[in-house]
Amino acid sequence: DVSPMAVFPAYLQESKQSATRLFSIFRKEERPEEHVHAKQRLQDGPLSIEMDQVSFSFQQKHETTTLSNINLQIKAGEKIAIVGPSGSGKSTLLQLILNLYQPNEGQVRINGLPLHEVDEQSLWQQTNVMLQENQFFFGTIRDNLKLAGDHLSDQSLIQALEKVNLNHFTLDDAIFEKGDNLSGGEKQRLAIARAMLKGGCLWLLDEPTSSLDAVMEHSILSSLYEQAHEATVLLVSHRLKGLEEMDQIIQMSEGTIVESGTFAELMSKKGYFYEMKQLEKEML
Ligand code: ADP
Ligand code: MG
Repeated sequence: DVSPMAVFPAYLQESKQSATRLFSIFRKEERPEEHVHAKQRLQDGPLSIEMDQVSFSFQQKHETTTLSNINLQIKAGEKIAIVGPSGSGKSTLLQLILNLYQPNEGQVRINGLPLHEVDEQSLWQQTNVMLQENQFFFGTIRDNLKLAGDHLSDQSLIQALEKVNLNHFTLDDAIFEKGDNLSGGEKQRLAIARAMLKGGCLWLLDEPTSSLDAVMEHSILSSLYEQAHEATVLLVSHRLKGLEEMDQIIQMSEGTIVESGTFAELMSKKGYFYEMKQLEKEML
């Protein structure tokens, strides 16, 4: 077995978002040695998320604020879409929920617990994450899929590949660091296969299907949703289609939430979301 840590370049291990952190968030198994005992473990089951006046800046000096004054209440089991132009802070918001970065001001709470009191391993173990980049390490397809569970059988891995139409791969095929030898669509489908194998109570999906064509997107999203039925889901979406069923749509712009509500509410409000929706229609 190749350990992801053994093959990961040293420069990444040095960064705050080190290999251990990055791959721990995809991992199903617990790593007891990494538990910080003073922190509380999350119980199994769908998770609620709150953000209270959260502001965050990547720079120490706060010259530019990436997120300002974010307030969010997501109930356990809700399905939430986050939309907004590129650079509006959608991915950063998800990374704060994962505790990969900490807010400069305000508080993030999971099941009512401030995030700094939550045991990260128990959060990541229950969370099913698809990030926009850097989701794979150098090794085989099998190694990368097995982050979703050490004991998964080859047969279940192959079935997962079939579900996302990656039948042309074998489990022994090599993947370069970050999946650099795969196309954008292949990377996304492989990440989706892994997500479906892992399951979990909280799904954080960052534009999971942006490189797929509409037909493939539809079929893959439906099987994802089927599996995430009871989980809390935050989907960052590049398209404004298919959001009618969401419990809440969060419209972001320049690091703030400018509107939120159901699809019907936002459409009747005729504000930012409505305008974006009209633009999207014109471009089709
Ligand atoms: P979105 O996902 O909505 O496209 P992001 O959350 O990725 O937006 O980015 C929000 C802002 O933060 C952008 O201005 C982006 O350039 C900046 N940003 C994102 N990641 C980093 C980083 N690691 N270091 C510095 N700035 C970053
Ligand atoms: Mg993004």
